[in-house]
Amino acid sequence: MKKVGFIGLGIMGKPMSKNLIKAGYQLVVSDFNKDAVKELESLGAESASTPKEIAEKVDVVITMLPNSPNVKQVALGENGLIEGARDGLIFVDMSSISPKASQEINKELVEKGVQMLDAPVSGGEPKAIDGTISVMVGGNKEVFEDVKEILEAMAGSVVHVGEVGAGNVTKLANQVIVALNIAAVSEAFVLAHKAGVNPEAVYQAIRGGLAGSTVLDAKAPMMLDRNFNPGFRINLHIKDLTNAMETSHEYGSPAPLTAAVLEMMYTLKQDGFEMEDHSSLLKYYEKLANTEVSK
Ligand code: NAD
Repeated sequence: MKKVGFIGLGIMGKPMSKNLIKAGYQLVVSDFNKDAVKELESLGAESASTPKEIAEKVDVVITMLPNSPNVKQVALGENGLIEGARDGLIFVDMSSISPKASQEINKELVEKGVQMLDAPVSGGEPKAIDGTISVMVGGNKEVFEDVKEILEAMAGSVVHVGEVGAGNVTKLANQVIVALNIAAVSEAFVLAHKAGVNPEAVYQAIRGGLAGSTVLDAKAPMMLDRNFNPGFRINLHIKDLTNAMETSHEYGSPAPLTAAVLEMMYTLKQDGFEMEDHSSLLKYYEKLANTEVSK
């Protein structure tokens, strides 16, 4: 079995790395959060202080970090994995970052013999814990086949979608669809509430029809319970929609609805809600309509 390095033991990375240990992989981990590192050590993982040291010790390095600058730092910065690179080392970045950043990192690593895949995920913390996340993978098909088993130990679905960067383009598509859906549900619930119809009844009446969706089933109960604990934080979704706008401009693909929802999220950030779940988009519409939705 391949020896795996795992950098970034946050909400997602910690349960994902635990699933690799459960599947029998030998792990070398690191994170700024020493408690998370200790927890993995107690399960049998080794730890290392730099990405360079991890790269020297393993066959495959996985990262699960917040955004492009974090991945660039870990891959290409001082004591980064590039300094421990050798022919045949595989780097799988599972963070959601800009596709352009993935391509830039790949370009530098490939010169040192490192093969890179961008493999962001969808599903959130519960699916990371269950090992049922969906993984969308960009990069060389043979390298993909080589590490597919490792990815499957953390996932319910693993799909190759194209060259390096394609994984993160797919993730941006996912994030656009999710954000616009939540905004639509919020707009509709405030409309129903103001018109005197119980949004809970609306939800039950429509969830089996064409408006039904995974997003509706995940977020409507949270909105109706006024439970805005994350889940997926507004500030992470701002990061993803900002990357989506940059990418849409780069490729000449206007995204007017994404731009509008991004501005709604910035408004929520000004109101102090950036650490809440993205279902708090409901609060943006409540403010516009001067109301509060209740069951
Ligand atoms: P998080 O903030 O909980 O975890 C990130 C971890 O990386 C932290 O523990 C942090 O200490 C660590 N870190 C940052 N820089 C580091 C460095 N240089 N060296 C070592 N460790 C470092 O974030 P998360 O929620 O786990 O998300 C990670 C990625 O997954 C993001 O790109 C996010 O958009 C994506 N994602 C998140 C979810 C979700 O529901 N939370 C779902 C799908 C995808």
